Amino acid sequence: MDSDILIVGGGAAGLAAALSAAKTNPRLKVGVLEAQPRSGKKLLATGNGRCNLMNERAEKEDYAGDADFIAPALSLYKREYGRFWEELGLLLSTEDEGRVYPGVNQASAVLDALRLNLREKGVSEITDFAAVRIEKRRDGFTVYSEGRALSCRRLILATGGKAGKGLGENDSFTRLLSPFGHRVTRVYPALTCLKTDRQHLSGLKGIRLRGEICLCRNDEVLKREKGEILFQDDALSGIASMQLSLIASPLISRGEKLHALLSPLGERAENIIKGRICAHPTRSAQELLTGAVNRLIALSALKRAGISPVQRADSFTPSQTEALIGELRSWRVPLTGTGGFSQAQVMLGGLDTRDFDGETMRSRRVQGLFAAGEMLDVTGPCGGYNLEWAWASGMLAGKTAAEELK
Ligand SMILES: Cc1cc2nc3c(=O)[nH]c(=O)nc-3n(C[C@H](O)[C@H](O)[C@H](O)COP(=O)(O)OP(=O)(O)OC[C@H]3O[C@@H](n4cnc5c(N)ncnc54)[C@H](O)[C@@H]3O)c2cc1C
Repeated sequence: MDSDILIVGGGAAGLAAALSAAKTNPRLKVGVLEAQPRSGKKLLATGNGRCNLMNERAEKEDYAGDADFIAPALSLYKREYGRFWEELGLLLSTEDEGRVYPGVNQASAVLDALRLNLREKGVSEITDFAAVRIEKRRDGFTVYSEGRALSCRRLILATGGKAGKGLGENDSFTRLLSPFGHRVTRVYPALTCLKTDRQHLSGLKGIRLRGEICLCRNDEVLKREKGEILFQDDALSGIASMQLSLIASPLISRGEKLHALLSPLGERAENIIKGRICAHPTRSAQELLTGAVNRLIALSALKRAGISPVQRADSFTPSQTEALIGELRSWRVPLTGTGGFSQAQVMLGGLDTRDFDGETMRSRRVQGLFAAGEMLDVTGPCGGYNLEWAWASGMLAGKTAAEELK
C-alpha cells in the first residue's frame, strides 16, 4: 500500500483535508495527488490575488445546496478555524461584511503557509498526477493516472469543478465517480458576468458604479443586489452582478427571458431631473446631468430617452422628461447569457449530496471514499463563502478518514 490516505486534488479542499488527516493521526502516511505542476494554482487567483478566504457571517442557509448536509462541516469549521489558521501561522484580517483575508493581503501567503505545514507534517505532494480512473479493491483503492498507479486505504476526492479558465478546471467530479453510481446534478457557471447585446452598453466599458441591480423576469423582481457593478463591452460584471448569476445562470440556460434593472439615480430620479429643469432651464441636456450621473452613463440614458446631449432643458417634451427619469430610475438591460465557465468563479451544482453523509463526508455508495469542496453540489455567494466550504468540508473529510484508520 503506497499510502494510508490519498487525496486527489491539491486545491483548498484537498490541502485542508491533508492537513486535517495528518493532524488527526500523525502516524498515517498521507499524500496529495495534483494534476498540475504545483498545488493551489486557483488559490493564488482568489480575491484578486488577496484571497478572501472565509466569511465570518457564513451560515448554512447562505449556500445553494442542502443546508442539512452543509451544517456539520460548517459548524466544525466555525469551532476550529481560529486554531487552524493560527497553527499555520497565518494572521487574518476582517473587512466589510465579514470578509476575511490574510493580514498580509497576499493569496500566496495562504498557499505558502499550507504547503509549509504539510511538508512539516510529512504529507507528500505528488504533482503532474492527473487521476483518470479509480479502482475499488477489498482493502482500499488504486488511483490511476496515464502511466502511473498509486494505492491507498482511504481516498478523498477534492478535484473542484469546471469554473475558472487555466486554474485546474475539469470534469473529474463526474468522470471519476460516475462508474460507482454517484449521481451528479446539472451544473452551471456561477459568480460570472451577465451578458447582454453590445448595443445596450455601448461606450460604457470600464465604468464602475456602486448601486443596486435587480434581476427580473417580466415584472417580477427575482433578486436585488447592492454593490459594485462593472461595465464591460457586452456584459455587466462586478460583485453585485456576479451574485445575480447564481440565480440567472440556470434560468437563462432554460431559455427564460430575463433582464437586469439598474438605477443610476434610483427613486430620486424624478426630483433631481424635474428640480434641475426648473432651476437650470437654459442648460443643455448633458449639462443638466453633470455631477449627478457618470458622464458616459448620462449620455447613454439621454440617447435611449431620445434626447440630444445639446438639447436645452426647457425644450424637453413631457414624454422626453418621463423617458429620461425612467432611464435613470430603472434602466432595463436585457440579458442574453452569462460569462460561461471560463469566466466563472464557481460551478453551481455537482456531485449529488444525497450520495454522501454530511456528518463525515463519506460516500454512501463506496466504502472508504470521501469527497470535499466545490465538486459537491454546494455553492456560496461571493465574499469568502466558497473557500470556507472548501476548508470546512476538506477538514471534516480528512478528520473522519484518519479517524477510521486509528
Ligand atoms: C478567479 C477566481 C477567484 C475566486 N475568488 C474567491 C474568493 O476570493 N473567495 C472564495 O471564497 N472563493 C473564491 N473563488 C472560488 C474558490 O476558489 C473555489 O470555490 C475553491 O477554490 C474550490 O476549492 P476546491 O479545492 O474544491 O477546488 P479547486 O480549488 O478547483 O482545486 C481542485 C484541484 O484539483 C486538481 N485536480 C482536478 N482534477 C484532478 C485529477 N483528476 N487528478 C488530480 N488533480 C486534479 C486541480 O488541478 C485543482 O488544483 C474564486 C474562484 C476563481 C476562479
